[in-house]
Amino acid sequence: LSERVGTFTDSVIRRMTRISDEYGAINLSQGFPDFDPPKEIMAALARAAYAGPHQYSITFGAENFRQALARKQGKAIGRTIDPETEIVVTCGGTEAMMCAMMTICNPGDKVMVFSPFYENYGADAILSGADPIYIPLVPPEYTFDIALVEKGFQEGAKAIIVCNPSNPCGKVFSREELTAIGELAVKYDAFVVTDEVYEHMVYEPYRHTCMASLPGMYDHTITCNSLSKTYSITGWRLGYLIGPAEVVEAAKKVHDFLTVGAAAPLQEAAVVGLNFPDSYYEELKELYTQKRDYFLAGLDRIGLSHNVPQGTYFVLIDIQKFLDLPKFAGYTDLEFCEWMIKHIGVAAVPGSSFFKEEVNHLIRLHFAREKETIDEAINRLSKLQ
Ligand code: GLN
Repeated sequence: LSERVGTFTDSVIRRMTRISDEYGAINLSQGFPDFDPPKEIMAALARAAYAGPHQYSITFGAENFRQALARKQGKAIGRTIDPETEIVVTCGGTEAMMCAMMTICNPGDKVMVFSPFYENYGADAILSGADPIYIPLVPPEYTFDIALVEKGFQEGAKAIIVCNPSNPCGKVFSREELTAIGELAVKYDAFVVTDEVYEHMVYEPYRHTCMASLPGMYDHTITCNSLSKTYSITGWRLGYLIGPAEVVEAAKKVHDFLTVGAAAPLQEAAVVGLNFPDSYYEELKELYTQKRDYFLAGLDRIGLSHNVPQGTYFVLIDIQKFLDLPKFAGYTDLEFCEWMIKHIGVAAVPGSSFFKEEVNHLIRLHFAREKETIDEAINRLSKLQ
């Protein structure tokens, strides 16, 4: 086996889903909705079953899919995006991130990653040969020291990964924060690789700003995104990256040899979603705002302390008061999560899988669930003691 496969573990997020399924728990670990995608998208998939396409699309994405993407994301980024030269359609946001990293990193290059971080970035760095430099996000507001970012660039970091809104802490980076990061990326001629899959799950009064929309930033940004969360189709594995033509030309090659392409009939069906009016995104935001408020109210009622996410559908819960009980003496957060699945029937992700720092007192739950499931999850969590 290669040395590199010995340097990272399987995904703890996906592992928790498997254990959850094994015990029939309510799965609030890996984030995905338990409700259907919009009917129009399901109907389009049914049509595609007969009308096709069933063969390969163009490797970097079907033409109509890229055109629809260019229209939608062009509005968000505030410029005309050329669907021929500035977009690669990928197998999920996961491939978009991996492809971006492999496109810009040489073995030994440094890449900055905020901690806590979505666990894929660690493996992305290892697989692309890059060495991560971790920049702490400091609770409660998950702020960061811009001087550390500058230091990272001075040490030669080729890129900084910005997950915005941020998994798992729910931070929405402000325009000022993004501008400060962006100015440094320009100054040191480096890239910002963004992961914006939760762009439409941003709660009042916060606003999502695309890094690529800031003055001078388009040429320094690789925007990675996905349709999974926005249209509730995580299993379709449709993602994409957008960037300047020169970078995208190279990314097309990486993507082609990794996967050839995303599923053609699914791209065809999802075009319908990309063409939804703006009201769809307003309603999605309203739906998740209600879910967030309902879930947090439930957590407050049963006395679990938590952060208040500005975006995403994740909440970090402080479990220190349980770990202090004799019954849980010596438990790691992972062991606590396994205990929770078996004895409480709710699956969470141990916080340690998101932090570079030693953190054992947090677990992550998500609230992309129907109201009844949230009620039952809160009921079960109330038995924690
Ligand atoms: N982003 C989701 C999470 O953190 C999962 C995505 C995935 O597993 N590919 O739970």
